[in-house]
Order: sequence, then structure tokens, then C-alpha cells
Amino acid sequence: MYDLLIKNGLVFMPDCRFDKVNLAIKDGKIVAVVQDEPQAAKVIDAKGRHVVPGAIDPHVHLGFSNPYAEDFRTETRSAAIGGITTIFNYYRNRRDYYETIPPLIKEAESTSMIDFGFNLGIITREHFDKFPQYRKDLGVKNFKLYTIYSRIVDSFFAYDGVKDCESLQLDTGDFMAIFERAAEQNVDCVFNIHAENVDMIREATRKIKDVPNKGLDWFAQSRPDIAETQEVISLFYLARHFGVNAYIVHTSAGTTIKAIEDNPYLQGDNLMIETCPQYLATTVENPSGGLAKVIPPIRYQKDNDIMWEGIEKGIVDTLASDNAPYTLEGKGYGKPIDEMKVGFASYATNYTLLLDEGYQKRGVPLEKLVQLISTNTAKIYGVYPQKGCLGVGSDADIAILDLDKEQVITAGILESSQPFTIYEGRRTKGWPVMTISKGQVIMEDGKIVGKAGTGRYLAR
Ligand SMILES: [Zn+2]
Repeated sequence: MYDLLIKNGLVFMPDCRFDKVNLAIKDGKIVAVVQDEPQAAKVIDAKGRHVVPGAIDPHVHLGFSNPYAEDFRTETRSAAIGGITTIFNYYRNRRDYYETIPPLIKEAESTSMIDFGFNLGIITREHFDKFPQYRKDLGVKNFKLYTIYSRIVDSFFAYDGVKDCESLQLDTGDFMAIFERAAEQNVDCVFNIHAENVDMIREATRKIKDVPNKGLDWFAQSRPDIAETQEVISLFYLARHFGVNAYIVHTSAGTTIKAIEDNPYLQGDNLMIETCPQYLATTVENPSGGLAKVIPPIRYQKDNDIMWEGIEKGIVDTLASDNAPYTLEGKGYGKPIDEMKVGFASYATNYTLLLDEGYQKRGVPLEKLVQLISTNTAKIYGVYPQKGCLGVGSDADIAILDLDKEQVITAGILESSQPFTIYEGRRTKGWPVMTISKGQVIMEDGKIVGKAGTGRYLAR
């Protein structure tokens, strides 16, 4: 007898099409994909809805401004609201990761409701020397590299033991050294790169620094689209040259997508693009003002439109959120925008924004969106087909989507510790209505029914 049977759903199959099949689950795994209805201890009737692999958000910052265990407790509840069953959390610290990562895994496992992994920053000489071993010993596949965050902007990262940080910023020579080392040692890793050109930001900011009434439009102009595009072109060139995997995080600008489209040398399986809902489904007109401050900045309608074209053309590979929960005070609410912190929690709305803006309004095929939010991500982050797949042997990490459900987004329904959402008051169509982690229902109709501490670390 099976533990769970999910019947009457349209199931996203491993070959990326929907089919009317039933899923039989035992011990947290999918053990049969069938047409009939075998005996199971629990039966879920999906009533013709879409049954998809749980979403994976590979770009989150938990433990960023709240303690680790507490953030994993509240924010993995919020993930469940959004149909997310796996997250990859960024971590950077100037100490040796052999010391810092094992205790963090324990802390996170004590409260997390879903499985998680870590992406580690390479920010010191020691990290540079050891990253090929970290890859093997710590089960980390993705390493974060920064083109920004030097001493002049160090107020952005005054947290988590890096208050005395000299710089996270790598120059082109550093990138060359890291890529060369990865190529020479044949390290099976991906470099997740924050790509913005600091010199161009400095110059753009100088030009507009005396403008009164600074808002999101001002902030977008201070970090212009071409500052991102310039770095992406440069780093993709270098990665292609050395044959290493480069993955641009939180890609925001239409000019970046166009540049890749126009340059075959900047295309290829080892060159990857991540974007976020804030670059697909909102603009500098967002009524939240400074609460929506994030880097790269939220941009303009034309950027949204080109980013969607990039998704349809297969230039954009994954969707992430850059989820970073804040209190209002921590965010610097009420201060001028140039003094507020960057980032916000938002991943509970990843799926509904993708469905509302992509599937409902733009007619993007659902199959494409599921790949963007789960399947592609699992492959790039080294957890496929355990995650991102509803095949025999895969973890029973599942979201059930109701494409017709309409709901108004408010902070109150998202279960995050963050008391605001930049999408407050927005009505969206299409929501996850059930989330299942390793065969256990953790969210049903917007209510959390899962247990804290059931998520486990994913060594890759
Ligand atoms: Zn981030």
C-alpha cells in the first residue's frame, strides 16, 4: 500500500508536457506514475488542476537580518504558501567555510520546513584556494562572485560578521584567476555572478546626486541598465573563453537580453541567466517606493517586456526572488531612498506573479514557466531529477496550481516575518493551492499544515 495517491490531476511529466496520470508516493518519493487508482493511506483529488514539481528558489538570503533558525522557521512557511519546496540560501563570511557551514546546516535543519542548499561567496584568498575542496566536501555547487561591494558601498553589507569587510568586489583579473583555476582543475561548479559595473554606477550617480525627490526612478537611473549589460558581456566572454559555467543572478535589464541575443558568442549551455519577478511584473511606478529598493534596481515597462521575450526565446533560464526579509526598521522605512537597505522578501508571490503576468496576460505556455521556476533550476543546481521532476524515484515535492484562483496579495497571507510586500493590494489570477514536501502536505488552501524541522540539507 502506498502512503499517498494524487489523482485526477494534469501532471507535469519529465518530458515537459502535461498528462492525465496519478502519482503514487511512498516514503517521501514518487514510486509509481499510473493510470489506475492503487490503494493508498491518503488520497488527494487534484480535480483536474495542474500538478507540478515544487518550485525551487535558488536565490534567497535567510539569516541576513534575522537569526538563522528563526528565519528558516518563518520564511520556509512563506515558501510553502508560494508552492516552493526547495531553496538555495546565499552565505558569505570571511572565515573558512569548513568552520562556518556545518553549524549553519544544523541550525537551518532545526526549523526548516523544506529542503535547502547553500551557495557560497568567494570573497577571500582562502576561499579562492579552497573552493575546489568546498565543492567536494561541503556539497556546494554554486559559488557567488561579486563585481560590486567595495569599501565605498560597504554600508550595504554591514551584517553577519562582515562588518569589517574590506571588499567583496573582484576585478577582471580576479575573475580570470578564478575561472582559470576552475578550468584547470575541472571543478564541476557554477559561478553565480552579481554583474553591475561599479565605475558606471559611480558616474551615473554623480550626474543625478542633487536631484530632489529621489524615488525608484532616480535609483534606477543611478544604476543604469548598461552597467549590468557591460559586465555580463565581459564576464560571459571570459567564461566562454575558459569553458566554465557562468550564471548571472537577478538579471534586470532589457539591454542585457538584447546583447546576448545579438551575440552568438555570449550564448551557450555554460552561460546562464536568472531573473526575478521584480524585473518581470513591476516597474519604477511601484507604489511601495523605497520599500521596493533592490539591486539591480526595478526598471521600466520596456525592460519587463524584453525580459519576457527572453523567457520565450530561451535566453532566460531560471526565476529566483533574491528573497531577503526585513523589518520596517531594518529596511530603513521612512528614510530617503539612498539611505534605505536593498532587498525584500517576496518569494511567496513568485508563482502567482509568473502565472498572472506570464500565463494569463502574455500567454506564455505553462510548460515554459514550470521549467523556469523548477526544472531548469534543478538541473543547474545539481539536484535533478531528485527535485524539479515528477518521475519515479524523484522526491515527492509537489505543488498543485489552481489557474483560476484569484486573490489579492497582502502581507498578511504570505506568512513571512516581513510586515510588508511590494505587491500589496495587487489582484492576481493563478495560485498554488497545495504544497507537498517529500510526500507530506505542508500547505493547503493558503494554510500551513507542515511541521518545522522537516527540511534537510541538500549536499550536491
Ligand atoms: Zn541576492
